[in-house]
Amino acid sequence: MKRRRGRPVGDPRWITARYKGACTDCRAEIPAGTQAYYYPNSGSLFGKACGCGERRQAEFDAAVFDEANNASL
Ligand SMILES: [Zn+2]
Repeated sequence: MKRRRGRPVGDPRWITARYKGACTDCRAEIPAGTQAYYYPNSGSLFGKACGCGERRQAEFDAAVFDEANNASL
């Protein structure tokens, strides 16, 4: 399978919640109109206010960084 440039479609990203939701990690409320880190593949949502979104993003970015290092070696 050919690798596409940039991040694949299923990669997590920051979104603005259109509806009230709950953080997948800590169940904190994610009010509509606030930022949340969203995993399209699993439908998981992690709040910014509770810190889970940024923690997840850091984990994901670390994984991508490792991948990029391996590919360039
Ligand atoms: Zn949370």
